[in-house]
Amino acid sequence: MKTLIWIQGLTCNGNTQSLLNAENPYFYELFSKIELLYHPSLSIDNNLLEIIRDIEKGHINLDFLVVEGAITKNKNFCRIGEFSIGEIIEKLKNKASYIIAVGNCAANGNFPALYDKNNDVSGLQFKFEEKDGFLPSDFKTKSGYPVINISGCPIHPAWFTQTLLALYYNRKIYLDKLNRPKELFMYLPHDGCIRNEYFEWKTEAEEFGTKEGCLFYNLGCRGPLTHAPCNKILWNRISSKTRAGMPCIGCTEYNFPLNENFFETKKNMGIPEEVPLGVSKRTYILISGVAKTLKNERTSKKLEETD
Ligand code: SF4
Repeated sequence: MKTLIWIQGLTCNGNTQSLLNAENPYFYELFSKIELLYHPSLSIDNNLLEIIRDIEKGHINLDFLVVEGAITKNKNFCRIGEFSIGEIIEKLKNKASYIIAVGNCAANGNFPALYDKNNDVSGLQFKFEEKDGFLPSDFKTKSGYPVINISGCPIHPAWFTQTLLALYYNRKIYLDKLNRPKELFMYLPHDGCIRNEYFEWKTEAEEFGTKEGCLFYNLGCRGPLTHAPCNKILWNRISSKTRAGMPCIGCTEYNFPLNENFFETKKNMGIPEEVPLGVSKRTYILISGVAKTLKNERTSKKLEETD
């Protein structure tokens, strides 16, 4: 049976909570295939150091090392027994076939790195967009992959389970330049958003939680600028932020949470400072200008009032 260790650095535990909501496969199905050697919240025995010793002696083979949370070089924090989180990663990094960073903190540093005054905190292999994480930029596990980043704050459980099972079955995974699986992160939340019709006709929502309107122009939606399959693999199988009338805040990107205001679209003379990926500012201005001069009867009414 393949084996997995899940460890935590500086984290809110959000990705563990997400993992418990896994479906298809369910949490218990997944861990009937893979032996969960240790998880700080789920293991009954607090025997990580004993397991590490057995791995070092070659008595246990480690397939997956999963890391949740940002990593600090300060040895006074995130200690497990006599070792800091960094020392545990050092012990296991060449033993695991794959290392998976779950969540934006483990992938890019996120909030802990943003508020770290001493430059001690980062993701496993990245600090925001720089390959300046805890492990060297050219580090690879024995399978030949770098740290596989499943970013998100938190991740959707299926992003983790699908990646894990692909590796379990020895499928090749293609990674983007931030080492995220392309199969998941080549999509944008804009793809599949039910508000696309409003985006096209430049009909904007003015407040949160409404059924109508696009959230891009007034409310800071980063759906067209963010890589994540949030409107392809739905949350709880039924919804997403933008479906519920809440803007995408770009939580899977390296620059999260560097935006000063999640709910405001920064503009210059009425033109958004950032326009959808793949489109020049000139094209965006041209297309929106044309759309605004035309009227779509349907998108200018409340949905309940449409025929
Ligand atoms: S709400 Fe966001 S994701 Fe949806 S169409 Fe508008 S910009 Fe795109």
